[in-house]
Amino acid sequence: MRTTEQKQKRRIQDRKYREGLTPAQREERNKKAREYNLLHPGRTTEQSRRWVAKNKARYNKYQKNHRRTTRLKAYEILGGCCVHCGETDPVLLDIDHIYGNGNLRKNRNSDQEVVSGRINREQLQLLCVRCHRLKTRTNGDHLRSNSTHSEQPESHDAGQMTLF
Ligand SMILES: [Zn+2]
Repeated sequence: MRTTEQKQKRRIQDRKYREGLTPAQREERNKKAREYNLLHPGRTTEQSRRWVAKNKARYNKYQKNHRRTTRLKAYEILGGCCVHCGETDPVLLDIDHIYGNGNLRKNRNSDQEVVSGRINREQLQLLCVRCHRLKTRTNGDHLRSNSTHSEQPESHDAGQMTLF
């Protein structure tokens, strides 16, 4: 049984090793991992589940940190400040869906989608809480949860007043 110190040392070594890999070596490693997963279906999932159950506090801390980093990255990609007033404090910033269908996507992780590029960034903008609320109130976004879902700009009701 390894001591905590030894484990930590080993982890740092592992990380250094992984970071030093060339893209080809990394691909080879991933390929082996995929093969292992095919040969032993569910084993890695089971292992991670067991690890999470045993290390709840650490896992939660890691998740929190990860969400925070992802959010900051997303904000940076979207310009880093409120498009209306220039507020830069991340605590006060929100990602706003320009065409007002954010309420249809509330279970999605926009931060992650912005960072990975899975979402059309042109449809998003940064607003501070104050400007965001003003926009929502004025455009009535919060009253349109039953409107038909479309991520196209055409879905924007031209008759409605738009602040930003
Ligand atoms: Zn603002």
